[in-house]
Amino acid sequence: MDVGSFVEVVLPLAVPSLLYKLPQGIRAEVGKRVLVPLRGKARIGVILEVLSSLPPDLDPGRLKEVMEVEEGPPLLGPKEVSLMRWAAHHYLSPLGLVLKCALPPTATARAQPRLRATEEAERPLREGRIGGVEREVLEALKGRSLTLKALLRRFPLEVLEGLQREGLLRSEERPPWRRRGEPWVALVHLPSLEGFTPKERDLLTFLKEVEEAPLRELKRRRRGVKGTVERLVQRGVLRVFHRDLPFSFAFTEVAPSPRPHRLTPEQETALSSIRRGLEGKGGAYLLHGVTGSGKTEVYLRAAEAALAAGKGALVLVPEISLTPQLFTRFRRRLGEEVALLHSAMTRQERYEQWRRIAAGEMRVVIGARSALFAPLRDLGLIVVDEEHDPSYKQSDGLRYNARDMALVRGRLEGATVVLGSATPSVETYYNASKGRISLLQLRRRVDDRPLPTVEVVDLKGQRGVLSGPLREALRETVSRGEQALLFLNRRGFAPVMTCRDCGEPLRCKYCSVTLTYHASSRSLLCHYCGFSLPVPQICPRCGGKRVSSFGFGTERVAEEVRRLLPRAQVARMDSDTVTTRRDYEALLRALAEGEIDVLVGTQMIVKGHDVPQITLVGVICADVALNLPDFRAPERTFQLLSQAAGRAGRGDREGRVIVQTLLPGHYAVLKASRHDFEGFFGQEIALRRELLYPPFCRLIQVRFTGADLRQVKARAHEVARAFEGGDFQVLGPAPAPLFLLRGRWRWQLLLKGRSYTPMREALR
Ligand SMILES: [Zn+2]
Ligand SMILES: [Zn+2]
Repeated sequence: MDVGSFVEVVLPLAVPSLLYKLPQGIRAEVGKRVLVPLRGKARIGVILEVLSSLPPDLDPGRLKEVMEVEEGPPLLGPKEVSLMRWAAHHYLSPLGLVLKCALPPTATARAQPRLRATEEAERPLREGRIGGVEREVLEALKGRSLTLKALLRRFPLEVLEGLQREGLLRSEERPPWRRRGEPWVALVHLPSLEGFTPKERDLLTFLKEVEEAPLRELKRRRRGVKGTVERLVQRGVLRVFHRDLPFSFAFTEVAPSPRPHRLTPEQETALSSIRRGLEGKGGAYLLHGVTGSGKTEVYLRAAEAALAAGKGALVLVPEISLTPQLFTRFRRRLGEEVALLHSAMTRQERYEQWRRIAAGEMRVVIGARSALFAPLRDLGLIVVDEEHDPSYKQSDGLRYNARDMALVRGRLEGATVVLGSATPSVETYYNASKGRISLLQLRRRVDDRPLPTVEVVDLKGQRGVLSGPLREALRETVSRGEQALLFLNRRGFAPVMTCRDCGEPLRCKYCSVTLTYHASSRSLLCHYCGFSLPVPQICPRCGGKRVSSFGFGTERVAEEVRRLLPRAQVARMDSDTVTTRRDYEALLRALAEGEIDVLVGTQMIVKGHDVPQITLVGVICADVALNLPDFRAPERTFQLLSQAAGRAGRGDREGRVIVQTLLPGHYAVLKASRHDFEGFFGQEIALRRELLYPPFCRLIQVRFTGADLRQVKARAHEVARAFEGGDFQVLGPAPAPLFLLRGRWRWQLLLKGRSYTPMREALR
């Protein structure tokens, strides 16, 4: 522990860090939480640094004092604090915003204001000098504090304020480290049920059966139970106590996946490289393995090796593929020390898990993006599964990429970082090809089963949503009693104009990204540079006259399948039909149990786990991904098609994939249909070099938001002008792809340059 007189504290607000004085004799430690005053309110922050002296120009007399320092182990270690500072610098963000995504929200949440009776209240109460409502208030607060909210349900505000003015009540803060888990209710003794109201009797009868129950359960059983409980506590019939939340993640029964006796030679080679990293100074690896090549087994063994060396392991996965199956597999293999962190858990559960990681009880963490800062001591291994997945990017608050941050964390801690993917991102693969990351390859599937055959069908000239070949394949598949998945990508869907003759979407002549159609002005707009033009009648590429918008949803696809196969069981999986994790799991189960013949869905369905009976995968329209107004559109298309193809034929029967598109000759479609990642990468990297897109340049997006469109626009233009003449290009300003979100206008500038430094300096 450091003994110092001052602390630098970061609060979960969009402000820089602040300095506070430490009271005499209080010990502080980096990463511990503190209660500090800010603008007349108590706030919870985290200590970034303990200082023994102040910079000479600062007057210590002007600093406020820390009110309380957390007991118990800090929720962030010095390494995580360094990572926070790095993120604030790199992403040009206030430290407070970084803190907000580093810790679970409960950790720094302000408690509800509470009131407690002071010692001064004791005598007048004893001597009977206080009566009426005032007396009732003080009686209710005997030996405990209550939230203001609870008190206001029974007493008027004026009375409480009056008592506070007289010094008989004081407000009290209860920071999260002094909160006591979940309230439970238990029976003290049960007299006969006479003399109780029907409501009270109902509660008592229930508690007589179960003896004790969480208050939350009682509330679920019957509304307004809290008042009843409080009355019965005062009469001494019930008592309330607090209990730590049990870990309530539902374990699902999975087919036991015993530790395979032998790894494939490729797995063996990959693992021994990773082990060398673990034993040495760490390092970064790209584990490029085709679907079904056994990447998860490599992760498991690497985590085992880290644990055996006394080190911790962090496994990041995209939110949606964080299935109970994956977690159960890790738990079965590595035991009770495996923690879980993801957004479908309650805030309290996440906080509890975090506390146990900080206390060193959990040595392996599996989690989504938000687990990046998990306070594992002696971190030896970081795995980023599906490293190419766009969900590693956060676009609210601190805009960061968890994959990039994982590499930084690995460097800071000397840990080994393994980025895994069947379809690595272009940037990562480029880094591997330049030797900045070690490349590990798994080219064969574990059981040597061939990858499925992929047919590409030209949608031009086809009528309806389902092409002839896809209809035929669906009929055959269902009649054989096998299952089919039909996949319609909607992620980032943007209305575009496409030529039905040559299949090409209309593109910006400056940026080569797709133009977005705006119906209100009947115009096409480039969201990169702001270039716009009225919708042309004639395709500028082939002279065709059939330029039109193109798009439909899963509902329409499901309808057509039902018309084609009236007796088949057809289900949909998209954000309309699946709103909770439970819906998602129920559909997957129905699929696994063969209750569904054809499942139509969005990108949700191409993740998830193996269903051996699926022998046909149809990609309804590859163009949705190809037409994204983003320079990464071909990359996303390749990834989606490969992932979709990976769903077919994972059992004994061979799989078949049909990809429908208006652009059957596009290299992303062709290379994906041949499972040729290197071929795709070769063409894509050449194009990026030619058009100057990452990794050959650095891009920074600057966003302007506000309620007043004129002001937002003016500000964007003003900043754009200020950047002129810099050592980088300025694209825009232009409206953002979602240019009106929750009542706020969004405009953006794109800075494009050889290195980040001049752009970052200009932005400061
Ligand atoms: Zn055309
Ligand atoms: Zn443009």
